[in-house]
Amino acid sequence: MKTKLLTYLSRLHILRSLKMRIFIIILLVGILPTAALRRTILTSYTKRAVEVRTTDIQNQCKILANHLINYNYLTDSSSEVIAAELAMLSDLYDGRVIIIDQSCRIIRDTYGISEGKTMISEEVMRCLKGESTTHYDGENYYIEITTPIVDTLDIGDEVDENYSDETSVIKGVLLTSVSADNIQTNLEILSTGATVMQLLAAILLLAIAWVLSQLLVKPFERVTKAISEVKDGFSTEQISVPDYVETEHIISAFNDLLGRMKAVDESRQEFVSNVSHELKTPITSMKVLADSLLMQENVPIELYQEFMVDIADEINRENEIITDLLALVKMDRRSTDINIQSISLNELLERLLKRLRPIAKQRNIDVLFESIREVRIEADEVKLSLALSNLIENAIKYNVEYGYVKVTCDADHQFANITVEDNGIGIPEEAKEHIFERFYRVDKSHSREIGGNGLGLAIARNAILVHRGSIRLESQEGKGTKFFVKLPLIYLKSQEGK
Ligand code: ADP
Repeated sequence: MKTKLLTYLSRLHILRSLKMRIFIIILLVGILPTAALRRTILTSYTKRAVEVRTTDIQNQCKILANHLINYNYLTDSSSEVIAAELAMLSDLYDGRVIIIDQSCRIIRDTYGISEGKTMISEEVMRCLKGESTTHYDGENYYIEITTPIVDTLDIGDEVDENYSDETSVIKGVLLTSVSADNIQTNLEILSTGATVMQLLAAILLLAIAWVLSQLLVKPFERVTKAISEVKDGFSTEQISVPDYVETEHIISAFNDLLGRMKAVDESRQEFVSNVSHELKTPITSMKVLADSLLMQENVPIELYQEFMVDIADEINRENEIITDLLALVKMDRRSTDINIQSISLNELLERLLKRLRPIAKQRNIDVLFESIREVRIEADEVKLSLALSNLIENAIKYNVEYGYVKVTCDADHQFANITVEDNGIGIPEEAKEHIFERFYRVDKSHSREIGGNGLGLAIARNAILVHRGSIRLESQEGKGTKFFVKLPLIYLKSQEGK
């Protein structure tokens, strides 16, 4: 029931507002102590007032008890002095005095209704044993006190407080019950005053809580406004709301996100401009070739044939770029539909090398394969072939005459490790971090000459990432390059977007 209520309350829109929560907390923190203070003050006032009045009456009763002994009132109740004293006492304290003898018989009752009756109560019995008792009845507002009437053998001595003394004899009990109405009246006055003060404090607190809740939440409203401005395009600057550490954290996370979005946007723009440029280059060449044929009259057929071969080459080039671009788009990690099978990595590499060896042979490059162990792997054969053949092709393309390419295949209990090593031209230090970017080439004209378009490594890297693997390289300019590929033997399904 309680939890249901809490869930209901937490669903209420107003309670989910930080402003409202701050307001309620300040209000509670302010009001609860004043309520506790009020209670403490009123209780301690009552306690103290009852104590003072009780002590006062106890003293009066002790004096009266002495007089009762002096006037031998318990055996002869005709003393007018005592009668006057009793009347004065009951008038003064607006109460009732009852005198009880040793045999619990009521000798005198200032109300005159119980005389001659016997009174046996716990307080009276305790008092007859020498124990003076007091009791405050908070509901009916009266104080009841019992005082022993003690006779001491040596009349001249003061009544000893220690009633067990051999020389003292308890002759009876003085039972006094007095009204505590005045304490109650004072309490009510105090309580009204406290209520007024509490109300004033509550109104003040309400105002403070309202102002504070507005002020404290302001920086968060500034955060929302600043983010909205960026979202609506009024500003592209980094934003700053340094009022709280928390707002600073939110803003710095937002700025990071903004930075990433800008980087993504820039890279998209760069990609589009690269694609346009790359696709335009073969078209421009074709146009130049065609125009030069068209502008000449009586062009010999041999020139036509030669130019048409060049045009066909450019068409092939354009075709290759488009094929690679499509492969790259397909390889996008999120949109990939992947066809996982258990394949032999060694056989796959053998097949690729068999296809590429003739190309290597043209430049007298040795292609070696070191299969350290049999490796079976769960992978998409087409994508993995594309990645590995790009690496091996590069090792051949960027090699030197009579160079070598060495491919190794190994595995531990979790990962397959493939290396592709060459002793070719190597990659300069500053180019290493860009090598996997789309359309990046160390030497554009050289790469173009040998049929590169800068997409091979981007495709290879994406294909490896699709398999949750990793790729890194070591290279020294003029000495050679070594690519390290690590792939999990068991395909791990992607969590994102599925
Ligand atoms: P490309 O189609 O130009 O080969 P890649 O993306 O495959 O494009 O490679 C990008 C660039 O990285 C290449 O242009 C080349 O400069 C460099 N590169 C790649 N592999 C090697 C290698 N094995 N040795 C030296 N340079 C390499």
